[in-house]
Amino acid sequence: MSYSINHTHDPNLRSWVESANQQGTDFPIQNLPFGVFRHRDNTETPHIGVAIGDRILDLFACHQVGLFKELPESLQAACTKTNLNSLMALGSWASSTLRDRLSELLRLDGSQPPQETKILVPMASAELLLPAQIGDYTDFYASIFHATNVGKLFRPDNPLLPNYKYVPVGYHGRASSIILSGTDIQRPQGQRKTPQESVPTFGPSRLLDYEMEVGFFVGSGNERGRPITIDKAEEHIFGLCLVNDWSARDIQAWEYQPLGPFLGKSFATTISPWIVTLEALAPFRCASYSRPEGDPSPLPYLYSAKDIQRGGINLTVEVMLSSAQMHAQKMKPLRLSRASFQQMYWTIAQMLTHHTSNGCNLRSGDLLASGTVSNAEEGSQGSLLEITRRGSQQIELPTGEMRSFLVDGDEVIFRGYCEQQGYVRIGFGECRGKVTSS
Ligand code: CA
Repeated sequence: MSYSINHTHDPNLRSWVESANQQGTDFPIQNLPFGVFRHRDNTETPHIGVAIGDRILDLFACHQVGLFKELPESLQAACTKTNLNSLMALGSWASSTLRDRLSELLRLDGSQPPQETKILVPMASAELLLPAQIGDYTDFYASIFHATNVGKLFRPDNPLLPNYKYVPVGYHGRASSIILSGTDIQRPQGQRKTPQESVPTFGPSRLLDYEMEVGFFVGSGNERGRPITIDKAEEHIFGLCLVNDWSARDIQAWEYQPLGPFLGKSFATTISPWIVTLEALAPFRCASYSRPEGDPSPLPYLYSAKDIQRGGINLTVEVMLSSAQMHAQKMKPLRLSRASFQQMYWTIAQMLTHHTSNGCNLRSGDLLASGTVSNAEEGSQGSLLEITRRGSQQIELPTGEMRSFLVDGDEVIFRGYCEQQGYVRIGFGECRGKVTSS
């Protein structure tokens, strides 16, 4: 099944939550992304919530006051949990049924709104938490522009390796160090060796970078030995978020051969708190990236006419930087890049299908990330490594400060949003993190 556009996407829908109707909000009633939160300043159990304007709809509270009593029992039970894993595990029917009910509950239709004080929490007075227990995390490399840009820096005459157009390349990341937006990033220490040095030294990374990525959570998983076919892949994807794959380029460059990324990446990965469901994204689906003439067709297990027609997502992602000095002078963060997720060489369905193609089992709550989202144009590159050409072309901040890589006190902010004529814009919220000293 792929999600069709239905009444929950109706651009004329308004909510009785006023802030959800404001132009430019990330969380209008057409979005309804899921997350986990608890009230600030107390030790109350985490609840599942849905972002609506500047509020959170508390699903535990909705259940308590009887607003979900028409829903199947398994779905009601999932709404009372402290993370989204149970809801994810139920599969695509569950999040779709719940979305339908939430849209009905939150819409302004003349009838009396439910007792909002019990079920609504101001987002500003909530502590957002990791939305799921993430058992495994896999990071792909799905932008051919990123792969080529990075390849050029390391292998000028042979930037793209011969497997790239056949294999959605990825590596197994570290789930234990996935943290939520807003958490500080301590500069990692590790082995670094400059080309001028004959032996490495151990110390704080000098080349700390971000990678702007899009993540997607596994909904219902698969049994070991039972691959998911390309046409079923999206049924197993719960929704998307923004991901910062923080990268220590000096540690990475010294350690990565022959087995790939390790401590240069595993110290921290930041995700945005709200998971935008695939159903919410239905109006923004588009053709997948059009492979240039002469590129090989995907092998049959990764080929689907439907995925070619509708496997893309018209999602715009942006990276902003604010230095400590900019922050102190109350300057607006500087936008470093803007890119379209539609331009990825591999679709989310292809990445998920490839992951299971050897029989590997994915579990509910597993996180898969796209790899750095870069497009062909200048100003669309999703890492400092690319923007500064490995530090050789510094960028100037509005304060006159220069950057080749991140400095302590720098805050990196990602945003993502979808726009389409005839539909209401939806956003992903923010994924931010500030670098602190080692
Ligand atoms: Ca990455």
